Amino acid sequence: MKLEFENKEGLMCSKCRLLLEPGKAHITYLKSTFPVELLTCPKCGEVYVPEDLALGKMQEVEKNLEDK
Ligand SMILES: [Zn+2]
Repeated sequence: MKLEFENKEGLMCSKCRLLLEPGKAHITYLKSTFPVELLTCPKCGEVYVPEDLALGKMQEVEKNLEDK
């Protein structure tokens, strides 16, 4: 599974006031960890998880797991 995000909306870290950059991150769901590409803060490493990932994509992940 590979997800990629671009910082089209100019999202910023609320703490550092820095523009988030695409980077590797890991998300944990249903006791499994997935490597994904997400927007992260270059300074503090804060990961931005878009709502559609938190909701929709997670359901896809769950579905993929069940299919195997
Ligand atoms: Zn930050």
